[in-house]
Amino acid sequence: MLVISSVKILENDGKGFKKYIDKSYAKRHNLIIKSIIKSRRKGTTMDKLTINKSAQKVLVVVDMQQDFINGALGTKEAEAIVDNVAEVIKTFDGEVIFTRDTHTDKYLETQEGRNLPVLHCVKDSEGWQLDRKLASLRTDAMKIFDKPSFGSVALAEYLKENTALESITFVGLCTDICVISNALLIKAFLPEAEIKVIEKCCAGVTPKSHQNALEAMKMCQIKIV
Ligand SMILES: [Zn+2]
Repeated sequence: MLVISSVKILENDGKGFKKYIDKSYAKRHNLIIKSIIKSRRKGTTMDKLTINKSAQKVLVVVDMQQDFINGALGTKEAEAIVDNVAEVIKTFDGEVIFTRDTHTDKYLETQEGRNLPVLHCVKDSEGWQLDRKLASLRTDAMKIFDKPSFGSVALAEYLKENTALESITFVGLCTDICVISNALLIKAFLPEAEIKVIEKCCAGVTPKSHQNALEAMKMCQIKIV
């Protein structure tokens, strides 16, 4: 049985196996591993990897879930940004990633639940789902990161893998909690990437805290556009 070691990866030209390359080659050529498929050929087992050119620009759509728009924690300001966010997703020239605030029914016993005792975004509930309009724009290529807290370490680690990344643009909810948390977290992981936040595609818990968060991000060299 042939098992390709973890340092050897196989570049796939779309027609089949092409050549073996190693991870440093992938890094030099800005390739990222998109998927690993175990395949069997003539009694051998191989890891077939699909590798794509990394995106230079990433759009992160933060927590555009029903509970934050018209559900348990919805606001009219959040409702008002949905069309703007949809427009940006449709026209964005790069990789689009979604995040979802994700809790269990034990939410009220968590630190966040004690500070904000409003049950929301319980996994698989209606309110946890992405806004319907935005969900209809999502393709399988657009990743979703479910996160139990404000910032997503998994998202930051994923983005750090992409050595070609030049800019990360944030849109979504709420400006003053999860947008600011993720923007600052990712700035720490990728200090050389340009971080942007589109003002008209974000809303805060209140209009005032939305403005405060934009000001705070500006001071931390996040571009508000
Ligand atoms: Zn939450």
